[in-house]
Amino acid sequence: MGSRREILGIGAGMAAAGLMPGFASRAFAAESRRDRKIGYAVVGLGYYATRQIMPNFTGCEHSRLVALVSGTPAKLEQYGTQYGIPKTHRYSYAQFDSLRDNPDIDAVYIVLPNSLHAEYSIRAAQAGKHVLCEKPMATSVAECQAMIAACRKAGKKLMIGYRSRFEPYNRLAIELARGGHVGPTRFITAEHGFPIQPGQWRLDKALSGGGSMMDIGIYSLNAARYLTGEEPLEVSAVESTDRSDPRFATVEDRIGFVLHFPSGIQANCISSYSSAHNGYRVTGTQGWIAMEPATSYTGQAMTIRKDGVIAPRTLPPAARNQFASQLDHLAECVLTGATPIVSGEEGLADMRIIEAIYRSMVERRHIGLTA
Ligand code: NAD
Repeated sequence: MGSRREILGIGAGMAAAGLMPGFASRAFAAESRRDRKIGYAVVGLGYYATRQIMPNFTGCEHSRLVALVSGTPAKLEQYGTQYGIPKTHRYSYAQFDSLRDNPDIDAVYIVLPNSLHAEYSIRAAQAGKHVLCEKPMATSVAECQAMIAACRKAGKKLMIGYRSRFEPYNRLAIELARGGHVGPTRFITAEHGFPIQPGQWRLDKALSGGGSMMDIGIYSLNAARYLTGEEPLEVSAVESTDRSDPRFATVEDRIGFVLHFPSGIQANCISSYSSAHNGYRVTGTQGWIAMEPATSYTGQAMTIRKDGVIAPRTLPPAARNQFASQLDHLAECVLTGATPIVSGEEGLADMRIIEAIYRSMVERRHIGLTA
């Protein structure tokens, strides 16, 4: 991997200067690989894929949409026409494994219900494609481990769709929190939730793997981890679910959970399917950094209290939004050999904690996470 970087950097320069005879053609091949756009197949043409992901390829520098996979011929026709995807690059699920034979497809973006993430990620890797898989990575630790093993065996990248890591305000919050801008962090509160509409796969445990925690509470968990840069030692969780509400026949509604980190930071987190929340606050010894909304598609707002003064903090508009940056990040990793900042291991880390949260709320005790 490092050698490819050398080819792209020092090697290319030396070859261009005529200092390395016989090296120029390899260097040129590597450069043109870096210049070309990585081709994505999007799998599952539901809300998130069609409304948020596919429209954002236009803002990408290194990524392009080249293929679609759907079980609905009318969607393949509609979006295929809209995005100029030829019929040869439109696939049903039955044809999924033949993605292997299409050299235009470098990476596969899995935007399916959670219980299908592992199967399609593994089959994508076996078809020789890099994988970008939506959050939650899967529905269990065992599935996450199988996905990581399959991508490793195939020599392919695996990235999880934690888009907030590419959003400028969240990146700034990480820098400020970890850098002690308001003093060493003492507490984090992170709250995510929305009142869920009935009649969707998210409320069917067989497809979702769980309720609010898998879907939206994961943003509170992931934020607590990225704002601290630490892995929790212990978690405790309490559930509140009205089982007479038909929405919650198989999945949980609300969870409050507390994470204890090695430096002593405590994160108090909320996950809800019956109330609206989107924010976090990092409280240090000299003030706080608040984000609300924090992990929305647009409109992040940051306020900082430092030494008694409360003021908004604004950033100039970003050249690429979080969706385009996320797509380009995997492309850049493919082109340079780097590992995604939100790799399979990152998804696995969240899933380990989610399983511990579920255990804690059932067994009504603290669960250690160090083993
Ligand atoms: P959705 O219901 O709108 O889309 C899911 C798609 O999967 C549909 O097109 C559906 O036809 C298809 N599908 C294929 N097989 C299916 C099956 N057996 N059962 C049900 N549907 C099947 O859902 P969505 O909101 O687009 O979510 C898809 C994934 O994206 C989920 O993993 C979700 O967590 C994730 N997501 C992420 C974000 C984010 O901000 N990162 C936002 C929304 C959704």
